[in-house]
Amino acid sequence: MKKIIKAIFGFLLTVIGEVVAGIILSYINNVNFISGFWIAIKASVKYLWLFITFKIPLWIMVMIIGILYIIKEYWKRSKCKTPTKSNKEILLETYTEDIYDGMNYRWRWCNTSNGPSVVDLMLICKCGCVLDYDMFDYDIQCPDCKKKYANNVDERAAERTFENRFRKKLKELDAKETLNPNKK
Ligand SMILES: [Zn+2]
Repeated sequence: MKKIIKAIFGFLLTVIGEVVAGIILSYINNVNFISGFWIAIKASVKYLWLFITFKIPLWIMVMIIGILYIIKEYWKRSKCKTPTKSNKEILLETYTEDIYDGMNYRWRWCNTSNGPSVVDLMLICKCGCVLDYDMFDYDIQCPDCKKKYANNVDERAAERTFENRFRKKLKELDAKETLNPNKK
């Protein structure tokens, strides 16, 4: 069914082509517009007849259908382009884990007017478990694997470091893009 629709569509394009050609011919030959149009109509009827009686060679039909298919695919692809994210948006989503002073941290970003700022900073054990601690603890023990860490955690310093690393990473990404503008 789809193929038949495509074939009909291909024929319509041929007819339109003939009409346009007729109009151009009438213009070139200085024939009046109506008679040019009439020539085009006659040619279209001729093509219709050839089409109905399958006198148009198969390869032409296949070619027309092929071209239409390519146009359709191209149109479909140009329509559903995924919106490209900015480097900043990508980093805000992906850069949420890092190491500071030998300790693993995980956090979220909050986009403030002063730039992205670290929130919900969590200390993570090597086994992946979130570590609970308070500033008076001598050491921190993982509730899952029981591994012990010395409590020299400085949350404030870690936050400032990750924010600074974010800015550096963003600069690097933006610089790469200006060097290579086609790669997105
Ligand atoms: Zn652990």
